[in-house]
Amino acid sequence: MSASPRNRTVSRLRPFASTIFAEMTALAVEHDAINLGQGFPDTDGPVSMLDTARQAIADGLNQYPPGPGMPVLRHAVAADRLARYGLDHDPDSEVLVTVGATEAISAAILGLVEPGEEVLLIEPYYDSYAASVALAGAVRRTVPLVRSGESFAVDLDGLRDAVTSKTRMLVLNTPHNPTGTVFTREELEAIARLACAHDLLVLSDEVYEHLVFDGRTHTAIATLPGMYERTVSVSSAAKTFNVTGWKIGWACGPAELIDAVRTAKQYMSFVGGGPFQPAVAHALTHEQQWVRRLRDSLQTKRDVLYDALVAAGLEVRSGGGTYYLCADITGIGEHDGIEFCRNLPARIGVAGVPVSVFTDHPTKWKPLVRFAFCKQDQVLDEAARRLRALGKPGS
Ligand SMILES: *Cc1c(COP(=O)(O)O)cnc(C)c1O
Repeated sequence: MSASPRNRTVSRLRPFASTIFAEMTALAVEHDAINLGQGFPDTDGPVSMLDTARQAIADGLNQYPPGPGMPVLRHAVAADRLARYGLDHDPDSEVLVTVGATEAISAAILGLVEPGEEVLLIEPYYDSYAASVALAGAVRRTVPLVRSGESFAVDLDGLRDAVTSKTRMLVLNTPHNPTGTVFTREELEAIARLACAHDLLVLSDEVYEHLVFDGRTHTAIATLPGMYERTVSVSSAAKTFNVTGWKIGWACGPAELIDAVRTAKQYMSFVGGGPFQPAVAHALTHEQQWVRRLRDSLQTKRDVLYDALVAAGLEVRSGGGTYYLCADITGIGEHDGIEFCRNLPARIGVAGVPVSVFTDHPTKWKPLVRFAFCKQDQVLDEAARRLRALGKPGS
C-alpha cells in the first residue's frame, strides 16, 4: 500500500484522464457564471418528438432494440439522407444506430483501423477523436487548420504531407467544432482527391450538418466522386434536435464499412436508447421545419455573441456554422487562453474554453477561446452584457 495515489489508468489513456469541460463547469458553478464553455442547448427539442418518446415508454418499448437500431429510425435516417443529399443508403445494411455520434466515431475507428496504423486529424479536433485513436492502439497525426481572412481553411499541402504508407483513415468534421468553420466544397473536393489517391477511409462527423449560417450549405463528402465507398458518415439527434442527453446517433456508409462499425459497436454498448429511437425517427420525418427555425435562431444568437466579443475588443474568427465562436484574446493584452478561461468566471461571470485543449500544438493555439451561443436569449444577452465589460478599463 502506497500513501500516494497511484495512477492505475493504462498508459494509452492517461493523457485523456481529465477534460477541461469539468474544470470550467466547476468554476462556472463556483462563481455563478454563465457557462458558455460546454456546448449544450438550454431549451428543449420539438414537442412532438418529446411526446413520441413519452408514448414509447408508455407503450412498453423498454427492452433491447434490435442490434442495428429500430427499423423505423434506420428508414428515417436513410430517407433523410436521400432527400437532402441524394445518397441512397440501404436502411438494413448501410445505416447503424449508435449511442450518440460519439459511439459511432469510436466504433468506426476501433472497427476499421489496425493498431499501429495512422489516423489523420484536422486540428483543433473534437476531443473524443484522439481518445478513440488511442483506444484502438492507432497513431494519430494532426494537421492544423490555417487562418484564412476572418476564418479558417484546410491546409491541403499539410494534409498531403502528413499522409504516409501507414495512414488508414482521415477524420473530418464539418461544420467544425470548435471553430465553427464550414469547409467549402472546393476544400472537400481536394480532400476527396487525396483520400482516393491514397486509398484512405474517411470518417465524416457531420453532427452540425443543419447548423450552417448566412446561406452557406453543408456538403456531405460522401456525395463526392469516389467517396461513397470509402466514407463512414456520422451524425446524431443531439445538435439537430436539442437532445444532447439522448445519445441517439448513426453511422451511414457502404455495407462492408458499416459491418465493421457494427462489429465494434455491439461489444461497446450492444444497443441504447430504445424509446428515444422512434422519437428521433418521428422528428427526422416531421420536424425539419423546426430544425430550420433552430438554425435561424442560432444565426441571430451568433450575431449577438459576435457583436459582444468584438465590443469587448476580441478578434472573432469564423462563425459560419455550429454553435460556437472562437475569439482571439491578444487584442486585450492577453495571450494565454487557459489562464484567461480560468479567470473569466470570477472576473466577469462568464465561462469559455481554451481552444488549445483541442490540439496537439497548444502554443500555436494559445490565444483562442471558444464560446457557445446555444443559450436562451435572456441568458445570452446577459452573457453579452458581461463580455462587453471586458472592453472597459479595470475589468
Ligand atoms: C457533440 C459532438 C459529438 C457528440 O455527439 P453525441 O451524439 O452527443 O455523441 C460528436 N462530434 C462533435 C464534433 C460534437 O460537437
